Amino acid sequence: MTIDRRLVLAGGVSTAFHLLAGPVRAQGRDATPQGFAGRAFVNERGGLRIHTYVGPPQGGLVTTHVVETPVGLVVVDGQFVAAAAQEAKRYVDSIGKPVLRYVLSHQHPDHWFGFHHWGRVGVHAGPATAAFLRQNGAALIAERRVESSVPEIAGVLSAGSETIGGVEFRFRPVMNTEAPEIVVVEAPAAGATIVQDLVYNKVHAVVSRQIDEWVAALRAIEAAGGTLPLVLPGHGEPAGIADLPRLVAYLEAVKPMIAANIGKESEAPAIVAEMSRRFPDHRLPPLLQLGLARALRG
Ligand SMILES: [Zn+2]
Repeated sequence: MTIDRRLVLAGGVSTAFHLLAGPVRAQGRDATPQGFAGRAFVNERGGLRIHTYVGPPQGGLVTTHVVETPVGLVVVDGQFVAAAAQEAKRYVDSIGKPVLRYVLSHQHPDHWFGFHHWGRVGVHAGPATAAFLRQNGAALIAERRVESSVPEIAGVLSAGSETIGGVEFRFRPVMNTEAPEIVVVEAPAAGATIVQDLVYNKVHAVVSRQIDEWVAALRAIEAAGGTLPLVLPGHGEPAGIADLPRLVAYLEAVKPMIAANIGKESEAPAIVAEMSRRFPDHRLPPLLQLGLARALRG
């Protein structure tokens, strides 16, 4: 998904929604350092520790996940706004191990604009994401007028498994859902799937027209839940497979509203209002508005 300035304005509103709905249940232990605007969580299983940094609402509640192997770290996604990227980097530095690999899950700028603030990092990404960055990354930065740079592509990920830091990782590109390509990263030893924007945990989704493909991808994650029960989303706190039916219900609810309003972008606010009424515990309605602006375009 992508985020613009409206999100900053929406931060206060969504926080109020959040408080009304009560705290969001997160998988794992809260490990937020004092003074952080974002939050951090740690999940531990099979001798592996997975850290999740969730940026503040002003940063779209975007996540950075860090798989801690015995000898180093695998970092997935680099945040959107500068302040959140700097916090995420501070958190990663505090673990005290070298970063063995930076992974970018997909092309949307809320997951890579922030890499600029990590220093000179090269990222591994799927082929479509790598091509997008090379072709459109610089123009996107210029258009948004943000302080960022296109991260160097250090490697292209294809489907398959790879041992990094003595730990097995599986990479699985999923096509045509929230984004044209999302590389799902599985850490089987920890029973974890880093799904990024396939899952929004109690956060409004940047919807697309590919709802059927998206739901099918969620069903596949659900089916693998026996061995991979920990689901690490692109927006919001760590989740579990038990949280997926609610997201499927969300997508199924918005699907007919999109289908009935193609070419009628002016209907987006009414759809956002209706979805907020049906899903009152979801934060950041402007993300849904943003998705609809694209999905409804005739
Ligand atoms: Zn996103």
